[in-house]
Amino acid sequence: MKKCMVIGGGIAGVLSARIMELLEREVILIEAGPRLGGCAGTFERNHLKYNIGATTIPSLIPDFPLKRLLDLVNNSPLELAEVHLINPPILIHNNGKTIARFMSPDEDLEEWQRAFPTLKGHKKFLNLSYQITNTLLKSNFYLNNNNILTKTKTILKNMPIYLKIAPYFYKPASALIRELYGQEISDEFYYFLEAQVMITIQTSLKETSALGLLLAIGYSYTGVGKANGGTGKFIEAIALPTNFFLNEKVLKIKKIKNSFLIKTQNETYHADEIILAFPFLENLEIFEDNDFLKYFNKYRSLLSPYSAFVCYGKYMGSTIDPSPSHLIILPETMKNNYFSGYLFLSFLNHSNIRTFTLSTHVPISKLRDFYSSKNFCENLKKQFINYLCETFGEREENFTEVFYATPLTFKKYLNKIHLGGIPFKMENHPFKIPGNITPFKGLFLVGEHSFAYQGWLGISVGILNLYEHLRS
Ligand SMILES: Cc1cc2nc3c(=O)[nH]c(=O)nc-3n(C[C@H](O)[C@H](O)[C@H](O)COP(=O)(O)OP(=O)(O)OC[C@H]3O[C@@H](n4cnc5c(N)ncnc54)[C@H](O)[C@@H]3O)c2cc1C
Repeated sequence: MKKCMVIGGGIAGVLSARIMELLEREVILIEAGPRLGGCAGTFERNHLKYNIGATTIPSLIPDFPLKRLLDLVNNSPLELAEVHLINPPILIHNNGKTIARFMSPDEDLEEWQRAFPTLKGHKKFLNLSYQITNTLLKSNFYLNNNNILTKTKTILKNMPIYLKIAPYFYKPASALIRELYGQEISDEFYYFLEAQVMITIQTSLKETSALGLLLAIGYSYTGVGKANGGTGKFIEAIALPTNFFLNEKVLKIKKIKNSFLIKTQNETYHADEIILAFPFLENLEIFEDNDFLKYFNKYRSLLSPYSAFVCYGKYMGSTIDPSPSHLIILPETMKNNYFSGYLFLSFLNHSNIRTFTLSTHVPISKLRDFYSSKNFCENLKKQFINYLCETFGEREENFTEVFYATPLTFKKYLNKIHLGGIPFKMENHPFKIPGNITPFKGLFLVGEHSFAYQGWLGISVGILNLYEHLRS
C-alpha cells in the first residue's frame, strides 16, 4: 500500500485525505493547528462557538462537486453535522433595500424585477447563469497543465464543455452586462453584482470574465447549506475515519529518490506521495529542493492581494434573520482604501445561543498603515457594528463580547495572510494556475493555492480532478 501524507487539515486536506483512502492509500493527515477546518473551522472562546470564516456550504445539490465527493466518501457527514439547505441562502442589503438570492432563477426573477424594475435583461441573465453553472460544475472538468502533451489532453477532454462556455471565457464581465442589459446600469445594480462576485470568486467585477460573473450569480443554484453547530463540525464529520495528527506543523519537505521526507517539530515521516493542502505559495521556505522552489515561485504572484478583517461576537437581538448569510453593501460615505465596500455577516446557532462572524476584505498593501495606530482596528470594529445597527434597526447592546481577527491573526493561527487564494480573474485561466497535478512524481496540490476558485465549491472541483487523474 502506498503511503500518502496530506499536509493541512482545512477543507482541501480533509476531503483529499478521504479520496486518497478511497484510492487505497495509507493516509496520514497533519495539521499545524489545534483543530481541523482551517478557514472553515469553528473555534471556542469563553464557552461560545464561532465560525472562523466559511459558513455557507455550496454545491450540495446532486451532481454538483461537493455532493459528488460526499457521495464518493459516503460516511453521511451531512446528517452527522446536521447540514440543511437554506432558501434563500443570501440576503443582500443595500441602502435600505433587501434583496434575496434564491435557489432557482424563477424565484430570483421575481425578486430582481421588484428590486430593479427599470432594467430589462434579468430573465436572460439569470437563465444563462443557471445554465452555465450547471454545464460547467456538473461536468467532469479535467486539468493537467504540466507539459504540451497533458495540456493537449486537457483541451481535448474539456472540448465539449469548452464549446458551451467559450463565448463567456474571454469576454469581460462588463461586456456581458452591456450585451444583456443593452443600457447603462445603475451604480446600485453594479454594486449588487460586484458584492456577489467579490464574496464568491474573490475579485472585482472589473477584473473577472463573463464566466466568473455567471458562476458568481449561479452560486445559490448549486444548493447552499449551513451546519448546525458550526462548519467545523461538518469538517470533523467528513474526516471521521481519517488518521490525523493535530498541533503538528510541517517545517521541511525534501524529495529523496522516489519518496518524500517530511519534518515536523515532533517527527520525521516518509511518504510515497504527498498532498499539499496548506498555503504552500506563502511558505516556500518549507521546500528544500531548488526544483520545487523554482516551480512554485512562479505562481506566487497569482495570490489574492486581499486579507481579511473579521469581527466575532454574541448576538442577542431578534431583528436579523440568522438563517441566511447577509451581504451588506457599504454606502459611499463609509468606503475608503482600507477595506472593500462589502461586509459579509453570518450566524452560528448552538444550544440556543447565536454568535456572528462579520468579515471584510482588506488590501495587503495597506497592512503597515493598518497597524500604525493602536486604535485603528478598534475603530473599524465600532464602525462596522454601528453600521449593522443602522442597517437592521438593531440596538448596539445586542452585539456583545465583540472581538476581532486581523491579517496578523490569520498569519499566526493559519500560516497565511493572503485570504482568497488565487482569485477568479480573467487572466488566471486554467493553464496559468498550478492545478492539482505537478511534474514531480507523487507530489499533488489541492485547495486555495492550486485552483482559481476557492471555498467548498472550487476546492471540490480540484479534488475531483485529482481523483479522476489518480484513478485512471
Ligand atoms: C472570512 C472568510 C469567510 C469565508 N466564507 C466562506 C463561505 O461562506 N463559504 C465558502 O465556501 N468559503 C468561504 N471562505 C473561503 C474558504 O474558507 C477557504 O477557501 C477554504 O476554507 C480554504 O481551505 P483550504 O483547505 O484550501 O485552506 P485552509 O483553510 O487555509 O487550510 C489549510 C490548513 O493548513 C494548515 N497549515 C498551514 N501551514 C501548515 C504547516 N506548515 N503544516 C501543517 N499544517 C499547516 C492550517 O493550519 C490550515 O488548517 C471564507 C474565507 C474567509 C477568510
